[in-house]
Amino acid sequence: MTHDLFLELRNIRKAFGGFTALQDINLQIRKGEFVCFLGPSGCGKTTLLRIIAGLEVQTSGEVFQAGRDISRLPPAQRDYGIVFQSYALFPNLSVADNVAYGLVNRKAPRAEIHQRVLELVKLVGLPGSEGKYPSQLSGGQQQRIALARALATRPGLLLLDEPLSALDALERVRLRSEIRALQQQLGVTTIMVTHDQEEALSVADRIVVMNHGVIEQVGSPYDIYREPASPFVADFVGKVNVLPARVKSGQLHVGELCIPHDGADRDARVYLRPEDVLARPIADGDAHVFEARIEKIEFLGSYCHVHVTSPTLQPHNLTVYLSLNFLSEQSLKVGSTLKLRLLPERLKVF
Ligand code: ATP
Repeated sequence: MTHDLFLELRNIRKAFGGFTALQDINLQIRKGEFVCFLGPSGCGKTTLLRIIAGLEVQTSGEVFQAGRDISRLPPAQRDYGIVFQSYALFPNLSVADNVAYGLVNRKAPRAEIHQRVLELVKLVGLPGSEGKYPSQLSGGQQQRIALARALATRPGLLLLDEPLSALDALERVRLRSEIRALQQQLGVTTIMVTHDQEEALSVADRIVVMNHGVIEQVGSPYDIYREPASPFVADFVGKVNVLPARVKSGQLHVGELCIPHDGADRDARVYLRPEDVLARPIADGDAHVFEARIEKIEFLGSYCHVHVTSPTLQPHNLTVYLSLNFLSEQSLKVGSTLKLRLLPERLKVF
C-alpha cells in the first residue's frame, strides 16, 4: 500500500486496567475503501473504532489519517462522521436541524446549510422529511438521517458502529446495500463495525477479522471465505463442517477417504464448506465419492440445508446444501440415501 494509503494504525494497544482489549494492531486502509471490523462480542472492534474517532485513547501506538499523526487529537479536531447503533439523533431537533448540526457548528452560511440539508436528505432517500422529528421516523429512517448528519461536513472518513443491528432483518438488508451504494457514489473511506458475517461479506472491500483483541486475518470477502487463515476465521465466517483427519505417508485420511496431501504425518482437522460437497454431477469412477443418508432437511426455499450421515466419514455427520429442485427430482427425503462427492482441493487442513 503506497500512494493511496489513507488511514494507518501502528502498534495500537489498549488496556482497561489489567485487561488488554487490543494488542499490537497494525492496519492500513486505502482511500475510498470500505472496511469492516468483524468479530464476536468483546473482541475489541468497537474499542478500535473509538480509538480512530478519538473517543477512546489508546494505551500506546499511533493513528495516521491522510498523512497526519492524529494519535492525540481530540475528536473535534479529527476529520470523520460517525453513526452509532442506537440512532442518537437529537430528539428535540427536526430532521433538518439534526442534519445541519455539524455545519452550524462550523458556522457555514445559512443558505449553504439549507441547500446542503436538502441535498443530503434526498441522498439518503427521505426528501420532504426535513420538518419531521426523530420520533416520527422508523428506526431505518432515523439511521438514514444519522447517516446524512454524519456526511454533512463531507468528512474524509465515515465510521459506522453497528449501524444496522437495531433494525429488523428486511430493513437491515435494504439499508446495508443503500449504505454501500452511497459509499461508492461518494468515494468516502468507510469503516463499519459488525458482528454479522453476512453483512461484512456483502458490503466490504476488505474484512478485518478480530478475536480476543488481535487481528486474525485481513482480506477480501472472497479470500476470507475461501482461504480462511485460521480455524477461528473458518468457523466464524460462513458455515463449515469440521472433520478429524490424519496425514500419513503423503495421504490425508478423512474417514475412509484418501486424498493426496503434502506434509508431515500428524493428526489434523479438516474444514469443509457445505457447498464443497456435491450431489451432481457424479460419474462412475469419480474419486472422493461416498454414500450418505439424509437425516434432516432444513427447508430454506430454493436451497436446503441437508444433514447427512455416512459410514465412510468419521464422525458421520455432515451438512450439505442441496437445491429444492434436485431433492424433488430425485424424490429425496429423510431416510433416502444418495451419493455425494467432496472437492478435495477445497478442504482446509489445519
Ligand atoms: P461488542 O460487539 O459486544 O460491542 P466489541 O468487539 O465491540 O464487542 P469492545 O466493546 O471493543 O468489544 O470491548 C472489548 C473488550 O474491552 C471487552 O471485553 C469489554 O468488556 C472491554 N471494555 C470495553 N470498554 C471498556 C471500559 N471502558 N472499561 C473496561 N473494559 C472495557
